Amino acid sequence: MDQFRFFCLGGGNEVGRSSHIIQFKGKTVMLDAGVHPAFQGMASLPFYDEFDLGTVDVLLISHFHLDHAASLPYVMQKTNFKGRVFMTHPTKAIYRWLLNDFVRVTAIDDDSNQLYSDKDLKDSFDRIETIDFHSTIEIDGIRFTAYQAGHVLGAAMFFIEIAGIKVLFTGDFSREEDRHLSVAEVPPVRPDVLITESTFGTATHEPREEKEKKLTTMIHSTLANGGRVLMPVFALGRAQELLLILDEYWSQHQDLENIKVYYASDLARKCLAVYQTYINMMNENIRKKFRDTNKNPFQFQYIKNIKNLSKFDDFQPSVVVASPGMLQNGVSRALLEKWAPDPRNTLIMTGYSVEGTMAKEILLEPTEIPSQQNPDVLIPRRMTVEEISFAAHVDYEQNSKFIELVNPKTIVLVHGESNPMGRLKSALLSKYSKYKNTPDEVKVYNPRNCEDLLVEFKGIKIAK
Ligand SMILES: [Zn+2]
Repeated sequence: MDQFRFFCLGGGNEVGRSSHIIQFKGKTVMLDAGVHPAFQGMASLPFYDEFDLGTVDVLLISHFHLDHAASLPYVMQKTNFKGRVFMTHPTKAIYRWLLNDFVRVTAIDDDSNQLYSDKDLKDSFDRIETIDFHSTIEIDGIRFTAYQAGHVLGAAMFFIEIAGIKVLFTGDFSREEDRHLSVAEVPPVRPDVLITESTFGTATHEPREEKEKKLTTMIHSTLANGGRVLMPVFALGRAQELLLILDEYWSQHQDLENIKVYYASDLARKCLAVYQTYINMMNENIRKKFRDTNKNPFQFQYIKNIKNLSKFDDFQPSVVVASPGMLQNGVSRALLEKWAPDPRNTLIMTGYSVEGTMAKEILLEPTEIPSQQNPDVLIPRRMTVEEISFAAHVDYEQNSKFIELVNPKTIVLVHGESNPMGRLKSALLSKYSKYKNTPDEVKVYNPRNCEDLLVEFKGIKIAK
């Protein structure tokens, strides 16, 4: 009997270092190659030692976020991996700058923490192949097609066929229309196995309009009271969506004319060209805006880019959108430490905060936070801390609806902390309980890292 094998190298019962292996009939596909944002150096890698990477035929990268792509140069240059690597065009364009920055940042922290050099990044870059959305590539009996996943520019879901078995890997995805991205698509063919993210478990997102209103109201009132607003964001992806919201709000509120919105990221400045180029891969909203105004919507009117804090005169209320998103170090951390003691200031967390990072810690509203330079120095925290999620992951409603539309027989949950993932599993099992012990039974798995999951392919075939 043929067994389909799923083996999680990272991202099993956790968010971070996503990397999964699927195997069937002697073919091996690897999905993503990320790092874990709460760890450094080798500890941030997926468990690559637990699998022979030399057997991988194809490696597919879903999107450019570090937890999905940042260990790729390591895999390509430092292991026995010799397969082919694919990602979409915008992912590859942003990947280059993003990882260049990642190498620089890890080198500053501590040389021994460096997973690979800039040379490794350059040497591996040309060997990465690109795939268009809705096009199918076949390599040695493995067929795969890329579909839009929403989430961030270039993010893809991969529909993979190996010797007749069909697998859909969602990567990170969203099903809510925003200012610039399309929602994730439902592939036209039913997969046997769905590998889906479970970031928000059974939680429910607030409606988009309410979230935006809450965000702009909070910013406006902080500024009116003479405070500063800090918004930590990952340099690329959701940051561009927030900037579109702010730029529009400023254009509608004349009283804010003299208050500056800064975007503190050299990386984002470099990548803005990629956003300006790939408007055709975004949704109708933004393409219409482009047509109507004849101006690129990513050429912001009210947002100033600053390279670093040495260029920043902090003498009046302002809004600063800065990376990194989880306040581990860099500009966002420096501003947090500077602004935390003043109760007029507001910190607004808009992304997903991973376990073990300052972002997660600050949400508990501690009275003091440790300085990053010297953890023995404690800084009073009096600034307001708010969380409004613009992370662009599906909530329970959206995820379960998507699963219903995709209609798989086997569901494998990845990319979620144990508790939310466990709750999602229970919710799905009870939703499909009526099919238990029938040919339509839906199986749900939540494997841990390095835990083998074997699915009998024959059973799936008969039931179809
Ligand atoms: Zn992501």
